[in-house]
Amino acid sequence: MIFGKHINRYYLKYGPRLLLGAVALVLVDYVQLIMPELYRMLVNGLNTGEVLYKGATVPFTMDFLLDKLCLPIVYIIVVMIIGRFLWRVCFFGAAIKVETDIRIRMFDHCKDLSREYYQVNKVGNLMSLFTNDLDTIQECFGDGMLMLFDALFLGALAFSKMLRMDLVLTSLTLIPLTMLLLLGVFMGKTMMKKWEVRQQAFSNLSDFAQEAFSGYAVVKAFVKELVQLKDFRKLNIENEDTNVSYVRTSTMLHVFITLLVETVICVILGYGGYLVYRGRFDAGQLVEYIAYFTSVVWPVMAVAMLIEKSARGKASMNRITELLEAKIDVQDRAEARDVDAIRGKIEFRDLTFRYPDGEFDALEHVSFTIEAGESVGIVGKTGSGKTTIVDLILRTYNVPDGTLFVDDRDVNDISIRSLREGCAYVPQDNFLFSDTIANNINFAYDELDQTAVENAAKLADVHGNVSEFKDRYKTILGERGVTVSGGQKQRISIARALMKNAPILILDDSVSAVDTDTEKVILENLRNTRQGKTTILIAHRISTIESLDKIVFVEDGRVIAVGSHESLLSTCPAYARMVELQRLEDEAKE
Ligand code: ADP
Repeated sequence: MIFGKHINRYYLKYGPRLLLGAVALVLVDYVQLIMPELYRMLVNGLNTGEVLYKGATVPFTMDFLLDKLCLPIVYIIVVMIIGRFLWRVCFFGAAIKVETDIRIRMFDHCKDLSREYYQVNKVGNLMSLFTNDLDTIQECFGDGMLMLFDALFLGALAFSKMLRMDLVLTSLTLIPLTMLLLLGVFMGKTMMKKWEVRQQAFSNLSDFAQEAFSGYAVVKAFVKELVQLKDFRKLNIENEDTNVSYVRTSTMLHVFITLLVETVICVILGYGGYLVYRGRFDAGQLVEYIAYFTSVVWPVMAVAMLIEKSARGKASMNRITELLEAKIDVQDRAEARDVDAIRGKIEFRDLTFRYPDGEFDALEHVSFTIEAGESVGIVGKTGSGKTTIVDLILRTYNVPDGTLFVDDRDVNDISIRSLREGCAYVPQDNFLFSDTIANNINFAYDELDQTAVENAAKLADVHGNVSEFKDRYKTILGERGVTVSGGQKQRISIARALMKNAPILILDDSVSAVDTDTEKVILENLRNTRQGKTTILIAHRISTIESLDKIVFVEDGRVIAVGSHESLLSTCPAYARMVELQRLEDEAKE
């Protein structure tokens, strides 16, 4: 059994189902304990030709054997089959539902976590929470219920019957059984710690494998396969060691359990045999007593296993709780309201920003305005703060009050959802889903509009490429779009953003992987289709943005100058120097 803030609710939610399972289990346990009495009658009947039945001694005949022993055994077996099926369905069915529900809650919480969280917690680690740890919770929930009820009911009933048969013998058996219980409690703690270490080792392994598969192209290009293999082997051995250590402790526990149980059997055979010798017990009663004891072994073992399982479940639950309670850093303030239609004016007012884990300000005293409908280029060296500017417009991070305004409203007063709905974004990494090209382009919408998809693809100058694929728009892209080239990926990603037709379009270095001619076509299409709508283009090449309405020139987190290309050339020497440098670079390339 596992308890905790995030699991207790399910005991209530699935209460009736668990209760039905418990009733079925108790019924099975009850009829199971009728069997030892039947064994006694059979042994005594065969030995003496007579049996004690309901307080009277009756002859052991064939009719008695069939009516009073065989038939009840058949009934007992039928009840046990139905009962066992029922409690399995109830307990294990509820456990699967709990697992599914927690998985949904985890995924739901994950969607609200900030980018910061994903930078610290890697995908492999998260995946092991969704697989390994959840599996453990499921196992602990179902088995835990079974073990608890069995230990409580079967154990108590069998013990009471044993006590009624002989007080001294039962007291003697209690000594090793108590030791067994204490051992379980003590080892449970050790095992929980070992389980935590084991799960962490598995997470590290998943992290590494996930990164190695995602970055296989880099690994191959740098001929680092062997190094990767060595590192993987090291992690794999660490994982193996933690597993072996856990299994060793668990095996030791089981060996001790078996040892103590066998000790009890010896005690029963020794002292019980003595009782038969003294005439206090007959042979049938000894068989009956041993049968009760074998029924009590499982509940006692169940207690020990319950302790072990709870320990594992608790460790996994702790890891899952950490995820479920991870703080959602970026969220709406109470006063934030939805905006029906964003016009597209963006204003930075003396904004200074530092990343949550940053050691310096990524943006310092940034002030500039983008009027609704303007097309603006943001230009500057790598690391100057261009992406940070668009990250803040998209509210990927929290923004200080009174520093960033959209349509003259503080972004903190606008709901994040409606703000992002007003924006279309082409990120630098051009992530594509493992889905058809059509569905990737149509991502912003639920219903597929093939004509609109093709139009967007034409505007992004990728329609020609897609038409050459055998399955055209139905071509399924591999994981992270590996079946298409970098340039095609970029253009599909642009088509996806254009398809949204949002009031604000942000392209983060999105035409870097296309040739100059294609870039010209895309820019021309942008100019024509984005009339009256705000378009922000981050670029390295001045040629990409020189014809835009406005250019924001950024250097070391500061906005150095804002204006048209011509005005910046004459008023901003740093910009003019950059233009000149790029011209010389282009000439050198030619
Ligand atoms: P650009 O887009 O101009 O190349 P960025 O806006 O990505 O530059 O980065 C600006 C500065 O902020 C850089 O010094 C970078 O190292 C830092 N930075 C970017 N992302 C993070 C982050 N998530 N945490 C901390 N620092 C960051």
